[in-house]
Amino acid sequence: MEARRAERVYVALGSNLGDRASHLTAGREALGRLPGTTLLAASAVEETAPLAGMIQPPYLNQMVLLETVLTPRELLAACQSIERAEGRVRTERWGARTLDLDIVRFARRHVTEPDLIIPHPELPNRDFWQRELAELHAHER
Ligand code: AMP
Repeated sequence: MEARRAERVYVALGSNLGDRASHLTAGREALGRLPGTTLLAASAVEETAPLAGMIQPPYLNQMVLLETVLTPRELLAACQSIERAEGRVRTERWGARTLDLDIVRFARRHVTEPDLIIPHPELPNRDFWQRELAELHAHER
């Protein structure tokens, strides 16, 4: 079998429910343990207000830079299973998240599928993602 080439990927983590910092830590650690994946760097953690019109607690956000041999689709499936594993805390408030993982960029790839869009379509609208990306770009060579 041909060896897969490792690619650099930016994944955004967000939490606005329960022990938010612990959810981010668990998310980072789980991403770093994925097969063929190394956690290269993590941005500072930043607190942001929920999206306009949403009655929700504020979010803690962070972005990580990974190097992975997983495909975009494999990484999406892995992110969803990490979210489920961290999502045991129940909430009455619709939309609040123990852990949300978004693939922001995947090397120079462009993916446009019904359930997977890369670069993430919200990137132009989220200043904090852009700040976190800029912080992590220092690790790109
Ligand atoms: P959300 O409400 O933000 O958790 O969105 C979840 C859905 O967004 C998932 O079911 C994914 O299929 C879809 N999705 C599309 N593009 C992406 C992406 N780049 N990263 C993560 N999820 C994505």
